[in-house]
Amino acid sequence: MVQDDVWQAVLGELELSVTRPAYLTYFKNTSLLKAEGGQVVIGVNNVFVKETIEKKFNDLVLNTLKKQGINAQEVFYKMTPQKSQAVINDVDTTEQIKNQTANSSLSEEQPSVAGSSLNSRYTFDNFVVGDGNELAFAACQAVASQPGIKYNPLYLYGGVGIGKTHLIQAVGNAIQKRNPDAKVLYIATEQFVREFVMALRARTTATFANHYRSADVLIVDDVQFLAGKDKIQEEFFHTFNTLHQANKQIIISSDKPPKDIAMLENRLKSRFAGGMSIDMQAPDFETRCAIIQTKAESNQVNLDPEVVEYLASLITSNVRELEGALNQLLAWCDVRSITPTVAIASSLLSINKGRPKHLSARQIIERTAKHFQIPLEDMVGPKRDKDIVVPRQVAMYILHEELRLSYPKIAHELGRKDHTTAMHSVRKISQESQIDAGLRAAITEIKEQLYA
Ligand code: ADP
Ligand code: MG
Repeated sequence: MVQDDVWQAVLGELELSVTRPAYLTYFKNTSLLKAEGGQVVIGVNNVFVKETIEKKFNDLVLNTLKKQGINAQEVFYKMTPQKSQAVINDVDTTEQIKNQTANSSLSEEQPSVAGSSLNSRYTFDNFVVGDGNELAFAACQAVASQPGIKYNPLYLYGGVGIGKTHLIQAVGNAIQKRNPDAKVLYIATEQFVREFVMALRARTTATFANHYRSADVLIVDDVQFLAGKDKIQEEFFHTFNTLHQANKQIIISSDKPPKDIAMLENRLKSRFAGGMSIDMQAPDFETRCAIIQTKAESNQVNLDPEVVEYLASLITSNVRELEGALNQLLAWCDVRSITPTVAIASSLLSINKGRPKHLSARQIIERTAKHFQIPLEDMVGPKRDKDIVVPRQVAMYILHEELRLSYPKIAHELGRKDHTTAMHSVRKISQESQIDAGLRAAITEIKEQLYA
């Protein structure tokens, strides 16, 4: 059998032994370069594929070769030249990368080229995939598995707090994990700007430029901050070109598509748009629920689904805020050793929610009256029947919680003369709502309608 046929047979076997994605990612584009005197050389076209096969599939390859009559003592994997591959396979470059990695860890003491480092907390594993971020997630995974090859640059854009930084850092972390020698640089654009200004002053722009131009992967966060900074754009343009020409992966995030960044040079816009641009959306309701659940679980808390849904409907467009709200709730309940409930979440978080300015005392009283189905006149009138007193007290409580009105003012709004009435009412409802689920639900519902 000629070499090619042998290898096709081996591939056929391998295809049956590993998962489909693994086969496509690692074996599909391999070839048998040499099989002589117990030595086998297999051609691979990507350094990441090479390393993965060496680490994970070497025995499998040896055994499969054996089945095809090739008894190899050793298998070597050689990078075969291909125009679009990350060229970091020769010894010189590897040495260079090692040195640079050493330098970059030293560079903490040299702020002029410090860069930021990747945050190991951002991984693909702890990113919840759903509507809105699915495509971005897939593209980031593709880039992580074949950096510099397909989507270069990868440009993610979208609103605040929807996971852009998380995803682009996850790419960096995944690449770094697979290839510890690779120089993966992450930088927030604002910091890039600051460093550049410092380098200008210190006349160390060459060092600055070299630092970034020697990256294997450059991740630039919030690139909209380049707007209006001509000199830095120029510097960035050259860095971009150097890396891009060497097939080094560039990953960019921004709050808007390249064409919409005002005061950004056209040549940069077209570079940014020259790879793959992906529009990220805020996650939908189900995804937000899944995110909350995941985060609660990682805090060893089992959240009531009602609370999860309440949070997911309270905060809709920003995962960072969602996380903040959850943490606040968990901390509050943890200190008091109580289980988080919708009522607690509601009274705790609506204060922070950025209350609409138009919400008035009148609206609160009306809404409360409506909820308990009693006439507004009775709420503010003299009647003292229980089915009127309780709603009145609830209205006072909500006025206190939501508008932070003084007790005299609260009393006045409900037609009472004595402010101690308001004080007692607020205290009473506050205490009773801790034990009375029905009361809690009523308060939550009224608040939700007020803010709806
Ligand atoms: P952006 O860079 O788009 O402003 P971040 O990446 O900083 O947003 O995300 C804000 C916070 O929300 C981070 O703590 C991040 O881990 C978290 N986050 C965002 N989206 C998700 C998701 N889909 N799954 C898990 N965590 C997420
Ligand atoms: Mg960000």
